[in-house]
Amino acid sequence: MLSTGSALNSLLIHTMLAEIIAVGSELLTPFRQDTNSLFVTEQLNSLGVSVVFKTIVGDRKPQLAQAVALALGRADIVCVMGGLGPTEDDLTREAVAEALGVRVRRNGDLLAALYKRFAERRISMPANNSKQADLIDGAEILPNANGTAPGQWIDTVVGEHRKLLLLLPGPPFELKAMFTAECLPRLREALPPRHIARRVLKIAMLPESEVDARLAPIYTRFNDVETTILAHAGEIQLHLQCAKAILEVAQTRVNELASRIEEEMEDAIFSSHGESLEEIVLYYLEIRGATVAVAESCTGGLLAQRLTSIGGSSRSFVGGAVVYTDALKVEFADVPEDMLEEKGAVSREVAAALAHGIRRRVQSTIGIGITGIAGPTGGTEEKPVGLVYIALDDGKEINVCERNFRGDRDRVRWFASQQALDMIRRKFM
Ligand code: AMP
Ligand code: MG
Repeated sequence: MLSTGSALNSLLIHTMLAEIIAVGSELLTPFRQDTNSLFVTEQLNSLGVSVVFKTIVGDRKPQLAQAVALALGRADIVCVMGGLGPTEDDLTREAVAEALGVRVRRNGDLLAALYKRFAERRISMPANNSKQADLIDGAEILPNANGTAPGQWIDTVVGEHRKLLLLLPGPPFELKAMFTAECLPRLREALPPRHIARRVLKIAMLPESEVDARLAPIYTRFNDVETTILAHAGEIQLHLQCAKAILEVAQTRVNELASRIEEEMEDAIFSSHGESLEEIVLYYLEIRGATVAVAESCTGGLLAQRLTSIGGSSRSFVGGAVVYTDALKVEFADVPEDMLEEKGAVSREVAAALAHGIRRRVQSTIGIGITGIAGPTGGTEEKPVGLVYIALDDGKEINVCERNFRGDRDRVRWFASQQALDMIRRKFM
């Protein structure tokens, strides 16, 4: 379908906005999730297109037509996924036609291809399959390399504005293949050239509210860089993204913002190109020629697990012990028995003794000791659930960090391991 000049221009000058519509009643149950939209979003982002709405609609024609009409009013690109099959509840074609005010027509070539496909398998085609040959007026066929339902590409004008409407099959492997083979080349041709620069900065052990309060005045001044803050347990990720006609220009803007953020956050930032905390810790240990050993109580080996999850960790990680009972704290990490009795297993002194003991035992550069109350039981008024001591002995001094982590058992244990990694990082950075 041809577009008018002014409509085409409107597509060229502003950032393209997309809406994704996932179709399927199963996606509105607790049992199935829409995952296709994550893939499509990634692909669209790579073309400089922002996804501004995602809608999930059940297999009902009126609601689906309504959703498509709404999407056409607020996005330049609308991707409708699912509902292209042969069954009663596959209504996407009809609903989109209704929203556009056009008809669907049975396409002879598509129908012949369907018959051929069934004939090749020596089965007769059930009558309802022929509706997969219905083509919306003005649509171009998107061949489906992995299934029977073809997709449809509609390049049209609604009001004054050019709109691209994509109908894609629901099964993820059909959708992905079709998007890559058929949609990406068409989109590249239809859209202005955009190059995306990205960077991921990571911050450990600071609350999201504090990070945002310090950074919002900075990133809000970079209108052309999209900043997304993702908070995980004990880690905040800042995703910076900029789309420009020229990649170097986009990269420069992202780097400028990253530098301003680094100035503000200083050593709170542990990664400025997306590396994990484990990777960074092992990197620092290796360049300093240092080794680490651990004596873990409440984390039960989580710290060792995280460090050994990185390939090549044996160059810096020696090993250690899970010393859950008092007896093993004495036996494997030389914690004095009277200290355990006087101070209790969860104490500043025992954490320090664990770090010291394991370091001496294995002759590593540093030793880490972790002891705490992960919960949900075992807390007292004096020593509540979430109280964890993390100690680092580097042979010259022993630093002990006392933390009161909130949350469930998994979260307390995770935070404790995160704190330990951050302490190692700060020691060697
Ligand atoms: P449909 O094209 O609607 O017949 O969908 C066929 C199958 O694809 C469904 O049963 C789902 O298993 C899968 N599917 C449909 N939509 C999605 C989606 N948005 N994300 C992930 N899987 C999907
Ligand atoms: Mg369906």
